[in-house]
Amino acid sequence: MLPIDRITGCLLGGAVGDALGAPVEFMAWPAIVSAFGEAGIRNLAPAYGGLGRITDDTQMMLFTAEGLLRAHVRGASRGICHPPGVVHHSLLRWLLTQGEPPATTVSRDGWLIEQSALWARRAPGNTCLTALRSARHFGDLPSNDSKGCGAIMRVAPCAFFANAFDLAADTGRLTHAHPSGYLSAGLFADLLRRLYLHPEQPLAQAAAHSLQAHRGREGMEETVHAVEQVLAFHARGYAPTPERIAALGGGWVGEEALAIGLWCALFAEQYAEGVILAVNHSGDSDSTGLIAGHLLGLKHGATGIPQPWLEALELRDAIERIARDLHEVPARFEGGYGSADAAIFEAYPGG
Ligand SMILES: [Mg+2]
Repeated sequence: MLPIDRITGCLLGGAVGDALGAPVEFMAWPAIVSAFGEAGIRNLAPAYGGLGRITDDTQMMLFTAEGLLRAHVRGASRGICHPPGVVHHSLLRWLLTQGEPPATTVSRDGWLIEQSALWARRAPGNTCLTALRSARHFGDLPSNDSKGCGAIMRVAPCAFFANAFDLAADTGRLTHAHPSGYLSAGLFADLLRRLYLHPEQPLAQAAAHSLQAHRGREGMEETVHAVEQVLAFHARGYAPTPERIAALGGGWVGEEALAIGLWCALFAEQYAEGVILAVNHSGDSDSTGLIAGHLLGLKHGATGIPQPWLEALELRDAIERIARDLHEVPARFEGGYGSADAAIFEAYPGG
């Protein structure tokens, strides 16, 4: 599979997992059974007024990707750049789409914010809203102690840049100040990067390598523990059932969301099986669906995602465009830039 197909599969896979979990995000497992039957939800169901609607997770993932691309363009053209500050500016553009006024001036340029379907509230997380609302300068860190999964759910695009762990941790930290919130994001992006660079490597092995590389970081303990637990479950062949997932946690916090999404991706042979497992539990189904979906989408590519799910997916064109740009824009700038790149500057103004 070509690198571009892995990037596209990763982003579409996450978005479809998010959309599959959207109808049941706030439903406990017994309520899911009542609504969808003994086997739980196994297909896209209406949420937010339609089938295939994405939630805040995918919205923020897209704005993170936009920020990374703007940071890249700015760094390549001006030679100086602090990527978390530029990503912060992009996340504040997302805040505008939520009808919330940022505390600082935010430019409304670039193509992404023009996508009218993004201007919709899809149960945005309070920690993200509060932290972004109060930011006065790009790069400001929030004064909270949150380890909610609002950081990890948006960082997949960091995997397509060299310093994936730091980009994800440093941009995750813009909203979530607890290490388990932003370091779980770092570990997730590092794992995706390993899968991207070494597609032949089994997922369990890649996860073990990520742990090995980063376990020594201060504040990693909870994340390491959660991931080690599911690697052990996987080694013993335990299936992720709704009850076992509940025992692990609801996935509302970063390290649990990572562990649940990873466990389901490890257990599943196919994309659909993995995301179905990941959304059928009492916890934060859209985020755990998105995490499993990013992992399995990267592994199997977009062709591994059921066609009807892709056809129903909201903002599919925008997601595919971002994936293409994540692949092409950094490559275009390797040898400097020229007037032919005007379209790139317009799409990702360096700021
Ligand atoms: Mg959500």
